[in-house]
Amino acid sequence: MSRFFSEKYASLVPYTPGEQPKDTQYIKLNTNESPFPPSEKAIKAAGEAARELQLYPDPESFALTQAFADILGVKREEVLMTNGSDEILNFAFMAYCDDTHPAVFPNITYGFYPVFAEINRIPYEEIPLRDDFTINVDDYCGIGKTIFIANPNAPTGIALSLAEIEKIVASNPDSIVVVDEAYVDFGAESAVPLIHQYDNLIVTQTCSKSRSMAGARLGFGVANEALIRDLNTIKYSTNPYNINRMTMAAGIGVAQDEAYTKANCKTIMENRAFTMDELKKLGFICTDSMANFIFATHPDLDGEVLYQKLKEKGILVRHFSKPAICAYNRITVGTRAQMEAFIRAVRQIMEETK
Ligand code: PMP
Repeated sequence: MSRFFSEKYASLVPYTPGEQPKDTQYIKLNTNESPFPPSEKAIKAAGEAARELQLYPDPESFALTQAFADILGVKREEVLMTNGSDEILNFAFMAYCDDTHPAVFPNITYGFYPVFAEINRIPYEEIPLRDDFTINVDDYCGIGKTIFIANPNAPTGIALSLAEIEKIVASNPDSIVVVDEAYVDFGAESAVPLIHQYDNLIVTQTCSKSRSMAGARLGFGVANEALIRDLNTIKYSTNPYNINRMTMAAGIGVAQDEAYTKANCKTIMENRAFTMDELKKLGFICTDSMANFIFATHPDLDGEVLYQKLKEKGILVRHFSKPAICAYNRITVGTRAQMEAFIRAVRQIMEETK
C-alpha cells in the first residue's frame, strides 16, 4: 500500500478471482466458465462492432435491453444491463444498504458480497448455513435487512425452490431482496416472474455461464421500473457507458441464439449427472448441485491435497481455505471428455494415496 492510499480502504481485503494460469495448458474446471465457445451470432456481431470502436456505445443499451426483456418476458424498463452481474450486485449494495439497512447473506456464499459491503462501508451480517449447507429460509423471514441470496448458492450449488424464495420476499415487504441467479439456467427455478408481484425483489443474472460470455462481461438485473430507475441513477453516477460496443453486439447476437444456449445447458446438466455418479462410485459425497459445478468431498482424501494433485496432473479445480468448506473442492462441469479426464485423474490420485 502506498502512503497515499486512503485510510478508508486500509483494511479492505479484495475479492480473489480464481486462477487464470498463463503457463501450462490446464483443463480449467476452476472458474465456472462454459467449456463451449460463444454463439457464432455473438462472435460475428462483436467483430462487426469493432469497426465502430471510435464511437462511445449507446449509454441506454437500448437494443440489448429490449432483446433480454423479450427473452425474460418483461418490459424493457424492468431490465438493466451491466458490466457482468458483479456490477449490478455492487449497484444494489450502493443503492439499498446503509447503516439503517444493513446487508445480510449466508456465511457460505459468493465471496464478493462481503467485499461489496466493505468497499461501500456497509454493515453486514452473515447467517450460518445448516450443517448440510442448506439455507434455513426461516432465518431470513421478516429480518428487515437488505438480503442477498445466490440461488443456486455458491459454491454449494444448492437451490431454494421458488416457493421458498417467495416466502423470504413476501415476509420482508419493507426491505430489498436480491436474488443472484448467476447459475439459474442449469436446473433451478427463476424468481423473475415474481417481480410484478413484489416491489422489493431484484433478480440478477449473467451471460458469463450459460451463454459462454464470461470474457465479454455482461450481466443484468430484473425488477420493477422504480427499482430499475434507482439502479440507473447509480449507473449514470459511476459508469454511464458500462457496456462496451463489442459486448453490446455480442449480447444482442447471443439473445438471438437461445436454442444454442439451451442445448449447452442441457449438455452441462448431463455431464454434471455423469460426473456426480462417477464421483459417488469412488466414495465422494456431493451436494445436490443445480449449477454448472459440483461441490464434492471424500472422507479419506484431504480437500487441499486433491486440489494440488489434480493441478500436478494439469487439472485445475477450486479449493477454498475457509474451515467450514476446506474439505471440499468445487469442480466446474466441462465437456464430457474433460470430465472423463478429471475422473481418470481422481482415480489415479486415489490409487497413489492409498
Ligand atoms: N454471482 C455469483 C454467485 C457468482 O459465482 C458470480 C461469478 N463469479 C457472479 C455473481 C458474477 O459473475 P459475472 O460478473 O461474471 O456476471
